[in-house]
Amino acid sequence: MPIDQHGDALLEGVSLRSLPKVSLHDHLDGALRPATIVELADAAGVEVPEADAEDLADWFADKSDSGSLVEYLKTFDLTTAVMQSREGLTRVAREFVEDLAEDGVIYGEVRWAPEQHLGGGLSLEEVVEAVQEGIEEGEDAAAEAGREIRVGQLITAMRHADRSLEIAKLAVAFRDRGAVGFDIAGAEDGFPPSRHRSAFDYLASEFFPVTVHAGEAAGLDSIRSALIDGRALRLGHGVRLAEDLEVVSRSGDVVEVVFGDLARWVRDREIPLELSPSSNLQTGAIAAWGRELGDHPFDLLYQLGFAVTVNVDNRTMSRTSLTRELALLAETFEYGLEDLETFQLNAAAGAFLPVEEREELIELIGEGFDR
Ligand SMILES: [Zn+2]
Repeated sequence: MPIDQHGDALLEGVSLRSLPKVSLHDHLDGALRPATIVELADAAGVEVPEADAEDLADWFADKSDSGSLVEYLKTFDLTTAVMQSREGLTRVAREFVEDLAEDGVIYGEVRWAPEQHLGGGLSLEEVVEAVQEGIEEGEDAAAEAGREIRVGQLITAMRHADRSLEIAKLAVAFRDRGAVGFDIAGAEDGFPPSRHRSAFDYLASEFFPVTVHAGEAAGLDSIRSALIDGRALRLGHGVRLAEDLEVVSRSGDVVEVVFGDLARWVRDREIPLELSPSSNLQTGAIAAWGRELGDHPFDLLYQLGFAVTVNVDNRTMSRTSLTRELALLAETFEYGLEDLETFQLNAAAGAFLPVEEREELIELIGEGFDR
């Protein structure tokens, strides 16, 4: 794929970075600038494995290529350690938004777990406020630089912990102050959504939108629980839903695909799949299919009509951006601009926004891709 002088990928002569994009699955503690980590660690007295920002960027990439979700999650010990103060949280959130805007993102949802940021003595409310302040500063800075972006918070509970009802109440309390949805994250295997049924019941009673990490480190049972116990409107990755598809091939060509009831439900109800190509490779989520991007069931799901969206998951760990993920997919599966536009439209349609604002996003994406 031709790359322009700014390192930006060109597809059909168009800069991928310049195209309007929507980022739905993007972790705050997975999207720190390495240089910022070094500075914040210094101020907070946190030890860093590499003192040079470039070396630290390499360290994240190496650690994340382990093939195990548990190993991959260990890199978050460092990022969360420098996000325990109001200053740290606000700065990281501001830069998160600025970096998205720089990448052509016009709407993003940032997920993070407030309960992991109380080490500096701040309350749950105070950490959410600190992040919201950073988001708004980032939106303002982007607007001054001529880029319009809006970012909403997905307040996340840790699935191995027991605070999900409290965190769900926190999310709903902030619904007019930046929170747009709820998620559970962390070790998926062994910690099904059903464990957090009371939180999900509460959220449903408040009509508060939910996405659930499911079908990444665990399979169909986890996805089933996300939909039934979690009443998830989107699936965080959901890639292992492809285990519910029986692909019949003859001499290398797919002749028939038999749908299980779960896969059929997700496809027919257009429940968005928050697929994250690079991350899915690194965490072993697609190990059943192979080790290369070409083995990712992304294209199978797309061709079968699932509401696929493209995501970064953790930009620092995977050393990636939404532009880069789109470039990788375009290169691997020979997608054109029309395909990439479909992924953005799916994401806009699945955004946790009022319908008129989603329609606005859809219009902006159409205009941007038509240009
Ligand atoms: Zn994730």
